[in-house]
Amino acid sequence: MIYPWLKPIWQQIDRYWQQQPHAWLLYGHPGIGKLDFAEHLAQAVLCESLQSGHQPCGHCPSCHLFSQHSHPDFLLVTPEEPDGVGSERKQALIKVETVRHVLDFAHLSAHRGGQRVALIYPAESMNTQAANALLKILEEPPAGMVFILVSHHKDRLLPTIKSRCRQVALRKPDREQALNYVQQQYGDQASILLAFHGGAPLFDNENSHNQVRHELLTLLCKPRLLALLDYAATFDKQKLALATFLDWLNKWLIDMTLAQQHMPVMYYPDWQQSLNEISASLDPLALFALIDKLTALAPYGKHTLNVKMQLEDLLIEYLQVWQHHNNQ
Ligand SMILES: [Zn+2]
Repeated sequence: MIYPWLKPIWQQIDRYWQQQPHAWLLYGHPGIGKLDFAEHLAQAVLCESLQSGHQPCGHCPSCHLFSQHSHPDFLLVTPEEPDGVGSERKQALIKVETVRHVLDFAHLSAHRGGQRVALIYPAESMNTQAANALLKILEEPPAGMVFILVSHHKDRLLPTIKSRCRQVALRKPDREQALNYVQQQYGDQASILLAFHGGAPLFDNENSHNQVRHELLTLLCKPRLLALLDYAATFDKQKLALATFLDWLNKWLIDMTLAQQHMPVMYYPDWQQSLNEISASLDPLALFALIDKLTALAPYGKHTLNVKMQLEDLLIEYLQVWQHHNNQ
Protein backbone atom coordinates (compact mmCIF):
# COMPACT_ATOMS: atom_id res chain seq x y z
CA MET A 1 0.00 0.00 0.00
CA ILE A 2 1.16 3.53 -0.74
CA TYR A 3 -0.21 6.46 1.26
CA PRO A 4 -1.78 9.09 -1.00
CA TRP A 5 0.92 11.71 -0.34
CA LEU A 6 3.65 9.29 -1.49
CA LYS A 7 1.93 8.35 -4.75
CA PRO A 8 3.72 11.03 -6.82
CA ILE A 9 7.06 9.55 -5.69
CA TRP A 10 6.19 6.23 -7.32
CA GLN A 11 6.72 7.96 -10.67
CA GLN A 12 10.43 8.16 -9.85
CA ILE A 13 10.50 4.43 -9.22
CA ASP A 14 8.62 3.90 -12.45
CA ARG A 15 11.12 6.03 -14.37
CA TYR A 16 14.12 4.10 -13.03
CA TRP A 17 12.54 0.72 -13.67
CA GLN A 18 14.43 -0.14 -16.88
CA GLN A 19 17.77 0.43 -15.13
CA GLN A 20 16.80 -0.93 -11.77
CA PRO A 21 19.56 -0.51 -9.20
CA HIS A 22 20.56 -3.48 -7.08
CA ALA A 23 20.11 -1.28 -4.02
CA TRP A 24 17.58 1.43 -3.19
CA LEU A 25 17.73 3.84 -0.30
CA LEU A 26 14.34 5.31 0.63
CA TYR A 27 14.67 8.03 3.23
CA GLY A 28 12.59 10.68 4.95
CA HIS A 29 10.98 11.88 8.19
CA PRO A 30 9.65 9.19 10.59
CA GLY A 31 5.89 8.63 10.49
CA ILE A 32 5.20 9.23 6.80
CA GLY A 33 4.72 5.64 5.55
CA LYS A 34 8.18 4.72 4.27
CA LEU A 35 7.94 1.06 5.28
CA ASP A 36 4.64 0.55 3.43
CA PHE A 37 6.12 2.24 0.38
CA ALA A 38 9.21 0.01 0.55
CA GLU A 39 7.05 -3.12 0.86
CA HIS A 40 5.04 -2.02 -2.15
CA LEU A 41 8.29 -1.67 -4.08
CA ALA A 42 9.42 -5.13 -2.95
CA GLN A 43 6.09 -6.60 -4.04
CA ALA A 44 6.48 -4.92 -7.45
CA VAL A 45 10.00 -6.29 -7.91
CA LEU A 46 8.69 -9.79 -7.19
CA CYS A 47 5.36 -9.52 -9.05
CA GLU A 48 4.95 -11.90 -11.97
CA SER A 49 2.37 -9.82 -13.82
CA LEU A 50 3.23 -6.13 -13.39
CA GLN A 51 0.55 -3.57 -14.22
CA SER A 52 1.00 -0.22 -15.90
CA GLY A 53 3.30 2.13 -14.01
CA HIS A 54 5.08 -0.99 -12.70
CA GLN A 55 2.45 -1.48 -10.05
CA PRO A 56 2.21 -4.97 -8.55
CA CYS A 57 -0.87 -6.82 -9.79
CA GLY A 58 -2.06 -8.14 -6.43
CA HIS A 59 -3.29 -11.43 -7.94
CA CYS A 60 -0.34 -13.47 -9.20
CA PRO A 61 1.09 -16.29 -7.05
CA SER A 62 3.98 -14.05 -6.04
CA CYS A 63 1.71 -11.18 -4.92
CA HIS A 64 -0.41 -13.71 -3.06
CA LEU A 65 2.58 -15.11 -1.16
CA PHE A 66 3.76 -11.58 -0.45
CA SER A 67 0.45 -10.52 1.05
CA GLN A 68 0.51 -13.66 3.25
CA HIS A 69 4.00 -12.66 4.51
CA SER A 70 5.34 -15.96 3.25
CA HIS A 71 7.19 -15.12 0.05
CA PRO A 72 10.33 -17.27 0.05
CA ASP A 73 12.29 -14.70 -1.98
CA PHE A 74 11.56 -11.80 0.36
CA LEU A 75 13.42 -11.07 3.58
CA LEU A 76 12.44 -8.29 5.99
CA VAL A 77 15.30 -7.34 8.28
CA THR A 78 14.41 -5.34 11.40
CA PRO A 79 16.21 -4.78 14.71
CA GLU A 80 15.97 -7.33 17.45
CA GLU A 81 13.54 -5.68 19.85
CA PRO A 82 14.91 -5.69 23.37
CA ASP A 83 12.51 -7.25 25.84
CA GLY A 84 12.01 -7.31 29.58
CA VAL A 85 11.66 -4.50 32.11
CA GLY A 86 12.85 -1.14 30.80
CA SER A 87 13.04 -2.38 27.21
CA GLU A 88 11.89 1.02 25.98
CA ARG A 89 15.23 2.41 27.16
CA LYS A 90 17.35 0.02 25.16
CA GLN A 91 18.58 0.61 21.65
CA ALA A 92 17.12 -1.85 19.14
CA LEU A 93 19.97 -2.92 16.87
CA ILE A 94 20.47 -4.93 13.71
CA LYS A 95 23.53 -7.00 14.54
CA VAL A 96 26.16 -8.62 12.37
CA GLU A 97 24.69 -12.13 12.82
CA THR A 98 21.47 -10.87 11.23
CA VAL A 99 23.34 -9.39 8.28
CA ARG A 100 25.17 -12.71 7.83
CA HIS A 101 21.76 -14.29 7.51
CA VAL A 102 21.02 -11.75 4.75
CA LEU A 103 24.26 -12.79 3.07
CA ASP A 104 23.17 -16.45 3.05
CA PHE A 105 19.77 -15.43 1.68
CA ALA A 106 21.42 -13.32 -1.06
CA HIS A 107 23.40 -16.28 -2.34
CA LEU A 108 20.48 -18.69 -2.58
CA SER A 109 18.81 -19.11 -5.93
CA ALA A 110 15.32 -17.66 -6.20
CA HIS A 111 12.51 -20.08 -5.35
CA ARG A 112 10.22 -18.61 -7.94
CA GLY A 113 12.84 -17.96 -10.62
CA GLY A 114 12.62 -14.16 -10.37
CA GLN A 115 14.58 -11.76 -8.21
CA ARG A 116 15.11 -11.82 -4.46
CA VAL A 117 14.55 -8.82 -2.21
CA ALA A 118 15.94 -7.95 1.22
CA LEU A 119 14.35 -4.95 2.95
CA ILE A 120 16.34 -3.40 5.80
CA TYR A 121 14.35 -1.19 8.18
CA PRO A 122 15.53 1.13 9.58
CA ALA A 123 18.97 0.93 8.02
CA GLU A 124 20.59 3.17 10.63
CA SER A 125 19.92 0.58 13.31
CA MET A 126 22.73 -1.58 11.92
CA ASN A 127 25.73 -1.37 14.23
CA THR A 128 29.16 -0.71 12.68
CA GLN A 129 30.00 -4.37 12.22
CA ALA A 130 26.65 -5.09 10.60
CA ALA A 131 26.95 -2.08 8.28
CA ASN A 132 30.42 -3.21 7.19
CA ALA A 133 29.16 -6.72 6.49
CA LEU A 134 26.30 -5.30 4.38
CA LEU A 135 28.73 -3.05 2.52
CA LYS A 136 30.65 -6.14 1.37
CA ILE A 137 27.51 -7.58 -0.25
CA LEU A 138 26.59 -4.22 -1.79
CA GLU A 139 30.04 -3.99 -3.35
CA GLU A 140 29.62 -7.33 -5.10
CA PRO A 141 25.91 -8.01 -5.22
CA PRO A 142 24.88 -11.50 -6.34
CA ALA A 143 22.85 -11.53 -9.57
CA GLY A 144 19.10 -11.08 -9.17
CA MET A 145 19.39 -9.66 -5.65
CA VAL A 146 17.71 -6.35 -4.79
CA PHE A 147 18.28 -4.50 -1.51
CA ILE A 148 15.86 -1.90 -0.22
CA LEU A 149 17.22 0.20 2.63
CA VAL A 150 14.83 2.47 4.50
CA SER A 151 16.13 5.25 6.71
CA HIS A 152 14.70 7.89 9.06
CA HIS A 153 18.17 9.41 9.51
CA LYS A 154 20.19 9.14 6.33
CA ASP A 155 23.06 11.09 7.91
CA ARG A 156 23.71 8.16 10.26
CA LEU A 157 24.50 5.75 7.40
CA LEU A 158 28.01 5.03 6.13
CA PRO A 159 28.74 7.23 3.10
CA THR A 160 30.09 4.12 1.34
CA ILE A 161 26.70 2.42 1.77
CA LYS A 162 24.78 5.47 0.55
CA SER A 163 26.94 5.79 -2.54
CA ARG A 164 26.04 2.22 -3.56
CA CYS A 165 22.29 2.94 -3.49
CA ARG A 166 19.84 4.75 -5.72
CA GLN A 167 18.52 7.33 -3.27
CA VAL A 168 14.88 8.37 -3.26
CA ALA A 169 13.57 11.04 -0.86
CA LEU A 170 10.08 10.40 0.51
CA ARG A 171 8.44 13.64 1.57
CA LYS A 172 6.03 14.61 4.30
CA PRO A 173 2.49 15.36 3.12
CA ASP A 174 1.49 19.01 3.04
CA ARG A 175 -0.39 20.19 6.09
CA GLU A 176 -3.85 19.90 4.60
CA GLN A 177 -3.30 16.35 3.39
CA ALA A 178 -1.80 15.32 6.72
CA LEU A 179 -4.56 16.99 8.70
CA ASN A 180 -7.27 15.26 6.64
CA TYR A 181 -5.67 11.93 7.36
CA VAL A 182 -5.19 12.51 11.11
CA GLN A 183 -8.73 13.87 11.48
CA GLN A 184 -10.08 10.55 10.28
CA GLN A 185 -8.22 8.82 13.11
CA TYR A 186 -8.44 11.33 15.97
CA GLY A 187 -11.16 13.87 15.15
CA ASP A 188 -10.89 17.13 17.10
CA GLN A 189 -7.47 16.32 18.50
CA ALA A 190 -5.98 16.17 15.01
CA SER A 191 -4.28 19.54 14.68
CA ILE A 192 -2.70 19.37 18.14
CA LEU A 193 -1.42 15.83 17.59
CA LEU A 194 -0.14 16.65 14.13
CA ALA A 195 1.75 19.68 15.44
CA PHE A 196 3.35 17.64 18.21
CA HIS A 197 4.48 15.04 15.67
CA GLY A 198 6.06 17.68 13.45
CA GLY A 199 3.55 17.29 10.62
CA ALA A 200 4.07 13.52 10.19
CA PRO A 201 0.64 11.86 10.11
CA LEU A 202 1.48 8.30 11.25
CA PHE A 203 2.16 7.82 14.96
CA ASP A 204 1.21 5.80 18.01
CA ASN A 205 -0.95 7.87 20.27
CA GLU A 206 -0.19 6.33 23.64
CA ASN A 207 -2.38 7.69 26.37
CA SER A 208 0.07 6.85 29.12
CA HIS A 209 2.74 8.95 27.40
CA ASN A 210 0.30 11.79 26.80
CA GLN A 211 -0.44 11.99 30.51
CA VAL A 212 3.19 12.06 31.59
CA ARG A 213 3.87 14.68 28.94
CA HIS A 214 0.97 16.85 30.05
CA GLU A 215 2.30 16.68 33.60
CA LEU A 216 5.70 17.88 32.39
CA LEU A 217 4.30 20.81 30.41
CA THR A 218 2.19 21.94 33.35
CA LEU A 219 5.29 21.87 35.49
CA LEU A 220 7.41 23.74 32.96
CA CYS A 221 4.94 26.63 33.07
CA LYS A 222 5.56 27.08 36.80
CA PRO A 223 8.60 25.06 37.83
CA ARG A 224 9.38 24.44 41.51
CA LEU A 225 12.39 22.48 42.69
CA LEU A 226 10.65 19.77 44.70
CA ALA A 227 7.99 19.21 42.06
CA LEU A 228 10.69 18.88 39.40
CA LEU A 229 12.57 16.28 41.43
CA ASP A 230 9.32 14.41 42.01
CA TYR A 231 8.65 14.46 38.32
CA ALA A 232 12.08 13.01 37.50
CA ALA A 233 11.34 10.16 39.92
CA THR A 234 7.88 9.50 38.41
CA PHE A 235 9.27 9.48 34.87
CA ASP A 236 12.03 7.10 35.95
CA LYS A 237 9.57 4.73 37.61
CA GLN A 238 7.62 4.41 34.36
CA LYS A 239 10.85 3.29 32.66
CA LEU A 240 10.37 5.69 29.79
CA ALA A 241 13.40 6.38 27.60
CA LEU A 242 15.57 9.45 28.08
CA ALA A 243 15.08 10.00 24.33
CA THR A 244 11.35 10.51 24.96
CA PHE A 245 12.01 13.18 27.59
CA LEU A 246 14.62 14.90 25.41
CA ASP A 247 12.09 15.05 22.58
CA TRP A 248 9.36 16.59 24.75
CA LEU A 249 11.64 19.17 26.39
CA ASN A 250 13.41 20.02 23.14
CA LYS A 251 10.10 20.78 21.43
CA TRP A 252 9.10 22.96 24.37
CA LEU A 253 12.34 24.94 24.23
CA ILE A 254 12.07 25.41 20.45
CA ASP A 255 8.54 26.69 20.94
CA MET A 256 9.84 29.08 23.59
CA THR A 257 12.34 30.56 21.15
CA LEU A 258 9.53 31.02 18.62
CA ALA A 259 7.19 32.59 21.16
CA GLN A 260 9.99 34.92 22.18
CA GLN A 261 10.11 36.21 18.62
CA HIS A 262 6.33 36.60 18.59
CA MET A 263 5.89 33.73 16.17
CA PRO A 264 3.30 30.96 16.26
CA VAL A 265 4.76 27.97 18.08
CA MET A 266 5.39 24.76 16.20
CA TYR A 267 4.85 21.74 18.49
CA TYR A 268 2.53 22.79 21.33
CA PRO A 269 0.00 25.20 19.77
CA ASP A 270 -2.43 24.60 22.63
CA TRP A 271 0.18 26.05 25.02
CA GLN A 272 0.85 29.18 22.98
CA GLN A 273 -0.50 31.55 25.65
CA SER A 274 1.67 30.11 28.44
CA LEU A 275 4.70 30.01 26.17
CA ASN A 276 4.21 33.67 25.28
CA GLU A 277 4.09 34.63 28.94
CA ILE A 278 7.05 32.57 30.09
CA SER A 279 9.37 33.42 27.25
CA ALA A 280 8.71 37.17 27.25
CA SER A 281 11.68 38.21 29.39
CA LEU A 282 13.83 35.11 29.13
CA ASP A 283 17.52 35.25 28.27
CA PRO A 284 17.73 33.80 24.74
CA LEU A 285 21.36 32.78 25.22
CA ALA A 286 20.55 30.70 28.28
CA LEU A 287 17.74 29.09 26.33
CA PHE A 288 20.00 28.21 23.39
CA ALA A 289 22.62 26.84 25.80
CA LEU A 290 20.02 24.47 27.21
CA ILE A 291 18.94 23.39 23.70
CA ASP A 292 22.62 22.69 22.89
CA LYS A 293 22.87 20.54 25.97
CA LEU A 294 19.86 18.48 24.87
CA THR A 295 21.38 18.04 21.42
CA ALA A 296 24.62 16.80 22.97
CA LEU A 297 22.68 14.23 25.02
CA ALA A 298 20.72 12.91 22.02
CA PRO A 299 23.14 10.04 21.24
CA TYR A 300 22.55 8.71 24.79
CA GLY A 301 18.78 8.81 24.49
CA LYS A 302 18.54 5.02 24.49
CA HIS A 303 20.65 4.19 27.48
CA THR A 304 19.51 2.50 30.66
CA LEU A 305 21.87 4.28 33.03
CA ASN A 306 21.15 7.37 35.10
CA VAL A 307 17.96 8.47 33.39
CA LYS A 308 16.68 10.01 36.63
CA MET A 309 19.90 11.92 37.21
CA GLN A 310 19.92 13.30 33.68
CA LEU A 311 16.33 14.48 34.09
CA GLU A 312 17.08 16.15 37.41
CA ASP A 313 20.08 17.89 35.94
CA LEU A 314 18.15 19.21 32.91
CA LEU A 315 15.11 20.27 34.90
CA ILE A 316 17.23 22.15 37.44
CA GLU A 317 18.99 23.95 34.62
CA TYR A 318 15.59 24.83 33.17
CA LEU A 319 14.55 26.15 36.59
CA GLN A 320 17.63 28.36 36.71
CA VAL A 321 16.85 29.84 33.29
CA TRP A 322 13.29 30.42 34.44
CA GLN A 323 14.19 31.92 37.84
CA HIS A 324 16.66 34.25 36.26
CA HIS A 325 13.88 35.71 34.16
CA ASN A 326 11.45 35.91 37.08
CA ASN A 327 13.92 37.74 39.31
CA GLN A 328 14.28 40.56 36.84
ZN1 LIG B 1 1.59 -9.78 -8.95
